Amino acid sequence: MQDYQHHWKDGTPVHLPLGKIVCVGRNYAAHARELDNPVPDEPLLFIKPASSAAYLTRPLRIPAGRGSVHFETELAVLIGRPLTAASPEETGQAILGYGLALDLTLRDLQSQLKAQGHPWERAKGFDGACPLSPFISSDRVDPLTARFTLEVDGKQQQSGDAREMLMPVRELIAHISGQFTLMPGDVVLTGTPKGVGPLQAGQALSLELGDDLFVGTHVA
Ligand code: ZN
Repeated sequence: MQDYQHHWKDGTPVHLPLGKIVCVGRNYAAHARELDNPVPDEPLLFIKPASSAAYLTRPLRIPAGRGSVHFETELAVLIGRPLTAASPEETGQAILGYGLALDLTLRDLQSQLKAQGHPWERAKGFDGACPLSPFISSDRVDPLTARFTLEVDGKQQQSGDAREMLMPVRELIAHISGQFTLMPGDVVLTGTPKGVGPLQAGQALSLELGDDLFVGTHVA
């Protein structure tokens, strides 16, 4: 476990504790199809613990000997105010920043757990399972049209466009806040577009959020 702390793009710390990372599965129809999953009627939510957070700007340490570790590149939303049962309109004031995250997933283990009808935490919540980029101020990003990409070894693997989300960012955060209170410092991951795949040692990853954020890293 790393001593993780949120940061802004300019390197200054965000003085908010990370409590939980709330994630949504299957928020892009094309990704649900690539894993042979049905498209859900309402968001499929799960939580990664704060101890899974890591710096995306540092080499990625992935578990050894536990099967494939897949990358899922996602738009990350940093919450700045408490939200309970909020309306989509109310969430705008509570969004402090945007960044990118990798929802790292032990895919073989997740498949076993899914087949048994068990929770996914062991596949999604391990130490280092949530590398997070620095954040940029929410006024720099339009959550309805945000675009992001992942390149692995110079080749584009994933391309996300918020217009393709089944539930847009503000509706999603409002929905989540109706299930459990979001606290300042919590992060919401908004789902992965298609193109997920396994990480291998030594791979170089580049992630971009519009023209505003660029992060390069590699797999240790
Ligand atoms: Zn995901």
